Amino acid sequence: MDAGFYVPVRIIGGENCVKKGTQHFAPFGQLALIVCGKSAARNGALDDVKSALAANGQHGIVYDGIPQNPTVACVVEGARLAREHRVNFVVAIGGGSPMDAAKAIAMLACQDAPEGLFAHKIGAAVLPMIHIPTTAGTGSEVTPYAIITNDELQTKQSISSPALFPHVAFLDGKYMASLPQDVTVNTAIDAISHAVEGMLSVRAGGMSDLFARQALALLMGEYESLLAGSYTPAGRQNLLYGSTLAGMVIANTGTTPVHGMGYSLTYFHGVPHGRANGLLLANFLKECEKIWPGSTRKVFDALGMDVQEFAAKLKALLGRRKKLPEEELRSFAARAAKNKNVRNCRVPFTEENLYTVLKRSVG
Ligand code: NAP
Ligand code: ZN
Repeated sequence: MDAGFYVPVRIIGGENCVKKGTQHFAPFGQLALIVCGKSAARNGALDDVKSALAANGQHGIVYDGIPQNPTVACVVEGARLAREHRVNFVVAIGGGSPMDAAKAIAMLACQDAPEGLFAHKIGAAVLPMIHIPTTAGTGSEVTPYAIITNDELQTKQSISSPALFPHVAFLDGKYMASLPQDVTVNTAIDAISHAVEGMLSVRAGGMSDLFARQALALLMGEYESLLAGSYTPAGRQNLLYGSTLAGMVIANTGTTPVHGMGYSLTYFHGVPHGRANGLLLANFLKECEKIWPGSTRKVFDALGMDVQEFAAKLKALLGRRKKLPEEELRSFAARAAKNKNVRNCRVPFTEENLYTVLKRSVG
């Protein structure tokens, strides 16, 4: 069994870890660009970062122009600011959107991409990054991916390079105390999907499976809290550690057709990323079993339940689902079939299999 695994991120976890870990900001230089959205960072994380920088005699410029599903325009603007102010490093505060945008900004601050962001072959020169998640789902703080909206192809697209790994990730569940229930559930489902998809990747190995199993134990261990919408500080921390572990899984395995299909639900219907994956996940697993009986055994062994129970649990979290017209299901299946995530799955999916999953999930 392949045992390769690579995640070169220093992880500092626990309550008040940013304030207690000021020394981890010190090596990166005098001036930081702090990348965030309009609201989430103001839940205490931004103040903690500013005081950590001040404790070291460092400074930060705040760029809070990152929308959900970050655009090329917002990362180009962030890179312009980084260059104009000659910042030495980037601090990302927020969910996957600011964390991903920060990676593209840190790269474009050092590299021109004359052929465009998505065609650019990413070189090693990237500003150092410190990531502070305020959602527990994407695992972006430990992945080499930045998912940016590509309006030309009408989808979301990943840019990827080992140079995009952050240097440091601070994991403090207290920043999630302000997270609305729908975002908490959607992001937790994203992390569950990462762990499950990682186990079915062609690149899955003994180590990634180990991390996936532990991620699922932590995430599903908080299932009743997710259902009730009531969280203890320890529960928030468990969700965060679970999502970081699941991020480490996909850093090594990549994702599969669930993400490939989910991008269309997000791009064309504004379905939040994690919810899009959750809507598709159970039917994806059923289709895997149909194509290759036994292929999902290790997933359900890790979950400690069968597919019916897992589907019912997801359904209870997701609530009512919108139904899409037939022509859209066909077009989303065709789009997903071209996505590299499909070839990354150890179970071979045809366009017809993808259509079946979409039809059963949102048809
Ligand atoms: P998000 O788009 O970053 O944030 C969703 C919303 O939640 C925003 O309005 C945000 O506010 C708000 N929010 C975040 N933290 C909050 C908090 N603590 N309290 C109150 N509100 C808060 O959501 P996400 O699901 O974390 O990220 C999704 C993105 O990550 C997608 O673009 C997806 O493609 C990407 N992704 C990346 C990877 C990877 O490996 N890089 C993996 C999976 C997904 P603000 O507007 O203030 O930010
Ligand atoms: Zn995801």
